[in-house]
Amino acid sequence: MEGHRQVWEGCGPELLNGLYPRVCQLCGLFAEDGFACSKHRIAWDVETARCGLCFRRLPRAVLEAGLPRPPWEAHGGRRSSDWRRCRHCRTGTPGLGRLLAIGDYPGDLRPWVLAFKHAGRVDLARPLAGILAQQCVKAGWNVDRSLGNAELKRPRLVPVPLAPSRKLERGYDQADVLARAIGLELGFTVTRKLVRTRATPPQGEPGSRSRTANVSGAFALARTQLRFWRAPSALDPRQPLLLVDDVVSSGATLAECARVLRAAGAKCVGALALARAEKAS
Ligand SMILES: [Zn+2]
Ligand SMILES: [Zn+2]
Repeated sequence: MEGHRQVWEGCGPELLNGLYPRVCQLCGLFAEDGFACSKHRIAWDVETARCGLCFRRLPRAVLEAGLPRPPWEAHGGRRSSDWRRCRHCRTGTPGLGRLLAIGDYPGDLRPWVLAFKHAGRVDLARPLAGILAQQCVKAGWNVDRSLGNAELKRPRLVPVPLAPSRKLERGYDQADVLARAIGLELGFTVTRKLVRTRATPPQGEPGSRSRTANVSGAFALARTQLRFWRAPSALDPRQPLLLVDDVVSSGATLAECARVLRAAGAKCVGALALARAEKAS
């Protein structure tokens, strides 16, 4: 919208604001930046040091700020970001690959995510994907600059599928909507490589003790629609895949999805999400 405004910049503020009103995308109240009002502003948290794999916050004093590097940079040797790991990723196998998100959950993102996920605000996918795309550019996940390796193909986005019953209830699959919006922002293709084979309890629920057990076997490789009677074909190892989900809490869902994709031959699997839940390690 800012770009459109610039075209009309010479026409005076009244006409300009009439054509492109500066309103908060979430609540519709006045917003100086044309994106969010003062109450709904999403702060860019550039000071936080993040785990180079799972995007968890690292203790402030330990390291300088930084975002996880794109998963395809792991190919071809050790990278400087590999030592930047949280307690969880140092002691266990994270399994979800590299994750990039906008910020923490809850936080500034909470009202946006709740409206997008639970209040039918599908229209928020575009502005949220826009911010996530900016984060991708900042961290080098926008391929045009960083994918110098001719061996690798352009990444594709794989939405984490919602259970059909929940999709019916909600009317849309938020990860799928988000993946399409991110695809438009970054020029990545969306490929629905996964299907959910059974519904699982929501990951954020208190008391869901063994999250890994909850999602174990809950996903499978999708069969192509035209040849559904055939077993799914193996995935191209040169094709990086980025899973897309709204909020990542334990990471068990992403880890399980990544496991299915790797078992089918994918070599480079990462993930994009709006927000990362869970406390600092
Ligand atoms: Zn607002
Ligand atoms: Zn980590």
